[in-house]
Amino acid sequence: MVYLDYSATTKMDEEVLNTYNKVVNNFFANTNSLHILGIESKLLLNESLKQIASYVNCHSNEIIITSGATEANNLAIKGILGAYPNRGKKVLTTNLEHASIKNQTGVDFEKIKLDENGSVDFESLKEKLTDEVILVSIVAVDSELGIKQDIEQIAKLLKNYPLIKFHVDATQAIGKVDINYSDVDLISLSAHKIYGSKGIGALICKNNTKLSNQIEGGASITSFRGGTPPLELIVAFAKAIKLVNENKIEKYNHVKNLNEYLLKNLQDIKNITINNTKMSIPHIVNISLNNIKPEPFVHALEQDKIYISTKSACSFKEDISLPVYEITNDLNRAKNSIRISISFKTTKEEIDLLVDSIKKNLKKLNLRGDYE
Ligand code: PMP
Repeated sequence: MVYLDYSATTKMDEEVLNTYNKVVNNFFANTNSLHILGIESKLLLNESLKQIASYVNCHSNEIIITSGATEANNLAIKGILGAYPNRGKKVLTTNLEHASIKNQTGVDFEKIKLDENGSVDFESLKEKLTDEVILVSIVAVDSELGIKQDIEQIAKLLKNYPLIKFHVDATQAIGKVDINYSDVDLISLSAHKIYGSKGIGALICKNNTKLSNQIEGGASITSFRGGTPPLELIVAFAKAIKLVNENKIEKYNHVKNLNEYLLKNLQDIKNITINNTKMSIPHIVNISLNNIKPEPFVHALEQDKIYISTKSACSFKEDISLPVYEITNDLNRAKNSIRISISFKTTKEEIDLLVDSIKKNLKKLNLRGDYE
């Protein structure tokens, strides 16, 4: 099997799974129980939160555990709008956002212009920073083109606007690229993109930012979200963050080399267009094919046990890729885009198998002979 859909999800790391199992077996008590078993669970919880905090550069009491980044993104926007009812209502964002931002209803979104590489256009952002704006929400690395934003510079600019909060969706960035989040108010994270479990993530809420609670209940970890803390998931999340941050430079360079190798091979194939820009991180390669629909192509590769995606796994099937359209302004490319996502676990042999399968299937599926 050649799995090249790491931006959709990752397989849980063996060590993370071991950690999860150990906690299930040995620390099953509710972290809010008063007895010794509860206290032991609580100590483990606090240790894990501290560990997560150390990798995101925040305090452990600034972590709100959620079911994933979708919930974190919803809590960030709905929570801010609910907590500051007397401020503006507008949320500035981009056309690169994940469905869990862009599909939120009842929000007055306004899009910031991007330059030809997909970077936030600072002039457009400055122009839009009016009294009406309550929040700026930007994806650190988008899930379709892998475009990395200059979060530090945006945060620096926004420091001049103390009434406007800054949220960053760091789901695809964490563990892959280093970003300084120190001046960001809200950060969304997800464990299953970093070899952790599905069903857990976090919203980091800093700088005394208030949020209205979206899930009400009894005692939990913070007052922002009710529910018994899922200790095994949290400890496993901490383990996943720790592991993914080990040898980060080597991992990045490995992915970069594979990315260059793959692009070199793809550039030799007629009628494949690369959609990435120079701001894309090497983990995501996005291509469009001439005269071949992406779904049959993805299924053809599946016959060779090669697994890739058409756009983001969370997009609806009938949607075009908004990020690809935003960058290329080409409806055909946006309709026909394919995403290959690479990990530090990917090998050169896997890339060779992918390229062979792409070449074979392009010939097979294309009736006009564009790929002969
Ligand atoms: N934001 C981005 C950028 C993502 O790529 C994803 C996952 N595809 C999410 C948010 C949602 O994450 P989760 O699956 O944890 O809800």
